Amino acid sequence: MAKVYYDRDAELELLNGKKVGVIGFGSQGHAHALNLHDSGVDVAVGLYPGSSSWAKVEAAGVKVGTVDDVARDSDIIMILVPDQVQKQVYEDHVAPHLEDGGKTLMFAHGFNVHFGQIKAPEGVDVSMIAPKGPGHLVRRVYQEGFGVPALVAIHQDASESALATALAYGKGIGAARAGILETTFLEETETDLFGEQTILCGGVTSLVKAAFETLVEAGYQPESAYFETFHELKLIVDMMYEGGMANMRYSISDTAEYGDYTRGPRVIDSGVKERMGEVLREIQDGRFAREWIAENQVGQPHFRALRRINADHPIEHVGKEMRSMMAWLNEGKSK
Ligand code: NAD
Ligand code: MG
Repeated sequence: MAKVYYDRDAELELLNGKKVGVIGFGSQGHAHALNLHDSGVDVAVGLYPGSSSWAKVEAAGVKVGTVDDVARDSDIIMILVPDQVQKQVYEDHVAPHLEDGGKTLMFAHGFNVHFGQIKAPEGVDVSMIAPKGPGHLVRRVYQEGFGVPALVAIHQDASESALATALAYGKGIGAARAGILETTFLEETETDLFGEQTILCGGVTSLVKAAFETLVEAGYQPESAYFETFHELKLIVDMMYEGGMANMRYSISDTAEYGDYTRGPRVIDSGVKERMGEVLREIQDGRFAREWIAENQVGQPHFRALRRINADHPIEHVGKEMRSMMAWLNEGKSK
């Protein structure tokens, strides 16, 4: 059985007298910093000089400084800048303050450590608390008195107390209220990339687009296609989330359920699974990581083009129109 830690297994007191530096104030950074602050932890946020987040951090009553200053003054440093800039930020502004050892370097995703982009000195603890949810939820759910679950992993245990420190941090952001699952940097990195590529982000958007295009190309109104293939998806997924697939199937009509069993597997067939296997192998042997690192080294031209093309898909235009008629949806928008 996988090991899961809860509030009773983690001691927030281990952070007493310690300074925690959160580097970056984006999706995860703002949530970690504000949750730790509300949990009574001595936290500071590290930003690049001139960052537009500077005033936001100050307004929230949290200490702010340059990445160098915060990394120098902190015992625990959590790296929450985008994965593709972590190596540079680490080498230029964090590593110089780690040489004496004794500190803890933390991540919310294992990419750079697992793929050898960041190598901390031996005397440093290297650990991970990776919330299994977007930063805005990590903040909102904490404020509601709950937590988003997280993964914990230890890459380097110089102090022999790296796990206890990581769990204390996880408790400080509220994750131990929901459960912190023990894993490794390898497992977190590979499963995270696989999940976002094949189902959560890449899989589900490709499936929705294919269904939407099929209906529109067959002459149905784009607005009906949008409701059917996009809007309703959340309602169905919510039922699965709350009570499993059977719970969802209990709610739908028998006609829908029969179509589910007989047509679904024809669309998502063994060919899909084979290609998922190929995608997994590209993650495991480092091909995906090398491709993404190279793309960043040349300034993301392909990535930017893909972002532009995808933002212009007809489903996005119809969706925008339809959602503007549902005012309550705008409250949940992350940007
Ligand atoms: P983000 O893009 O939302 O925020 C990054 C922050 O870093 C921004 O405030 C930005 O201004 C700052 N930044 C960018 N370049 C910088 C530089 N050169 N120097 C200093 N600061 C810089 O990032 P994020 O999505 O919160 O991701 C942070 C980490 O958390 C990543 O390792 C990611 O894999 C992990 N993670 C993210 C999520 C999520 O919900 N987005 C979920 C789990 C794990
Ligand atoms: Mg992920």
